[in-house]
Amino acid sequence: MVIMMGQSSLAQQECGTPYSKDPYLDRGRLEQYIRQGRSAGDVVRLPVIARIVRHDDGTGGIAPGKLQPIFDTLNARFAQANIEFYQCGSPEFVDVNVFYDFNRDLYADSLVTYNLPEVINVYFINKVLSDDDFICGYASFPWRDTEYVVVKNSCAQNGSTLAHELGHYLGLLHTHETANGFELADGSNCTFTGDEICDTPADPRLRTSTVSTACAYVGTERDLNRDRYNPDPSNIMSYSRKQCRHFFSMEQIARMHYYLDRDRSHLGCSITHARDNAPSEVKVYPVPATHELTVEWGTVAPVQIRVFDLLGHEISISPRYDALQAQIDFSGVMPGLYVVTIYQDRDRVSRLISIARN
Ligand SMILES: [Zn+2]
Repeated sequence: MVIMMGQSSLAQQECGTPYSKDPYLDRGRLEQYIRQGRSAGDVVRLPVIARIVRHDDGTGGIAPGKLQPIFDTLNARFAQANIEFYQCGSPEFVDVNVFYDFNRDLYADSLVTYNLPEVINVYFINKVLSDDDFICGYASFPWRDTEYVVVKNSCAQNGSTLAHELGHYLGLLHTHETANGFELADGSNCTFTGDEICDTPADPRLRTSTVSTACAYVGTERDLNRDRYNPDPSNIMSYSRKQCRHFFSMEQIARMHYYLDRDRSHLGCSITHARDNAPSEVKVYPVPATHELTVEWGTVAPVQIRVFDLLGHEISISPRYDALQAQIDFSGVMPGLYVVTIYQDRDRVSRLISIARN
């Protein structure tokens, strides 16, 4: 008797970072980084705010005490690249029920409304669903406008997923990428196909069935020339077994430093950041609203209110501010879910609100 099981229930959960092309790539400059071998030199330290997603009532979410071992392992992976991540302040909480088991197809980039722009915002989430499949995480490339690193809590503790996602954040593609053409096993077209990196061998998209538990490639796949692949199951940017992934190649490292200097040089940790502390006594009502929303707060310090849609785009609204409250007119806005963020001094709080009309 043959028992059929769904592929997705057996397959290990992978990454949801979609391919995109860097429209600004300066190949001459990148070549300089590769020739110089930027891994020698001072360690580049990068600030991270860990954002732990929990239920509305503050329950659930990864325990903050589990974060330090995760960062220790991450830094062990990045030591070869002379890059080190450190937590900028204590973890912050995003207490929003609909983000707890995060459906990316519904809520897209809406998490970015919680971002602080000067740090790497890493969201630790219970489950992440994308294209009807559970995934381990996803991240944005340096050439995209939105910035995020999302990791599922259980995958964050597997030793390689967070390093993989931060590899994307620093400009690395999957070693098995094919959106720009199939890389040949002999490496002859390595510059413009696959991961566009020549010291990582062509990769037929590794998976648990083609990587042994001893981390050896045991597949028999051949490329378009009928040559056998000889991929590297230790590469962090592959889909090898999670426990096998610990290696960045020299060109991958050079590429990360190219992007660090080009796109990530604004990163820094400063105590003047707005924190996710609720300004005093904030109330937002009615929920759902039809045309007008009232925001109330408790102290006379001035507040600023911004509204974002679930793609993270700011909605143009003009709140009518009063002494301790503001009215926001939503009559020109489509019904749906929005994130209202209230800033007061260095504090801020975000509320998910619903606009509903019959
Ligand atoms: Zn990935």
